[in-house]
Amino acid sequence: MSVSARQSYDDANVFARILRGEIPARKVHEDEWSLAFHDINPQAPVHVLVIPKGRYVSFADFSERASEAEIAGFIRAIGKVARELGLEDGGYRLLANAGVHAHQEVPHLHVHIFAGRPLGPMLARAG
Ligand code: AMP
Repeated sequence: MSVSARQSYDDANVFARILRGEIPARKVHEDEWSLAFHDINPQAPVHVLVIPKGRYVSFADFSERASEAEIAGFIRAIGKVARELGLEDGGYRLLANAGVHAHQEVPHLHVHIFAGRPLGPMLARAG
């Protein structure tokens, strides 16, 4: 089920549970501000999710309330993961869904990193 981009933070969401160590994740990077792990249902040969450690629902929420250090830490982590996974040569795509129309399923800000094959057009032609 998709979530509203304006909803308040739900501490029971699956990424909050990963951050608390309640459920496992295949981690690829962790630092003070961010965690990156493989998506459980990959849509490309490389499909990694990068999340901030703070309680933010969406990019709009994060950019409004996060500190400069949290924002810098998160953005740097995304780039670091792309570099460390060797994605720069073949290329990669970043995607952050927010709200119902984007089909956001997990109400904790996350950036998808897709890579490993030609990724096709940016948006499906669905009506
Ligand atoms: P979104 O639709 O942008 O909210 O994407 C949520 C993503 O989280 C989907 O690609 C799911 O496959 C992924 N996901 C859900 N639960 C887990 C989990 N426990 N570990 C890793 N990825 C997950």
